[in-house]
Amino acid sequence: MYVAPYSITRIEDKDGNIIEESSPLRREVFSDQTAFIMTSMLEGVVNGGTGSHVRDFFQLPAAGKTGTTTEFADAWFVGYTPQIAASVWVGFDNKSVHFKTWDGQGGRAAAPIWGRFMKYVYDDPTIAMPLEYFEKPAKVYADTICMETKKLATPFCPDKMIEYFTDQTRPGNCEKHTTSKWREGEQGAGTISF
Ligand SMILES: [Zn+2]
Repeated sequence: MYVAPYSITRIEDKDGNIIEESSPLRREVFSDQTAFIMTSMLEGVVNGGTGSHVRDFFQLPAAGKTGTTTEFADAWFVGYTPQIAASVWVGFDNKSVHFKTWDGQGGRAAAPIWGRFMKYVYDDPTIAMPLEYFEKPAKVYADTICMETKKLATPFCPDKMIEYFTDQTRPGNCEKHTTSKWREGEQGAGTISF
């Protein structure tokens, strides 16, 4: 959902009469299915990718992306939970002031701040954030795929993972690991190697 930024919500006169009131313009830019699959990818950033330092502080469902500009002048982390979005920028107006090492990466300089912020928000009983997962919409399927071929896994695929698909993106079956004898096939029939 795209929401046009706006800053004035309401103007009232001294008696409380509303002179002007504005509500944000909203329009859908992604389908629910695409948004969920994007979120699943961005959860991967937090759960084991460049944004994994979020997890040093915050353990609830979260998705996001790191960013780093040339010569570590800006470190970014932009992310969201099912309830709240936040972005962290670490930098200085004058770009000649910058980090000199990889400590200036978005994942190292900005992601931990984001993780701490979310921890404080969710730990605060006066805010009382609900604890929820990202909701999977209809017509998105969780399938087990083969890590090697990225097709739907057979019982014989050695390494598997769960991935989300729509009717349009769902792959066919893995054609490499079709029987328990796939290793022999890989080495050429009738060949035994040591
Ligand atoms: Zn396979």
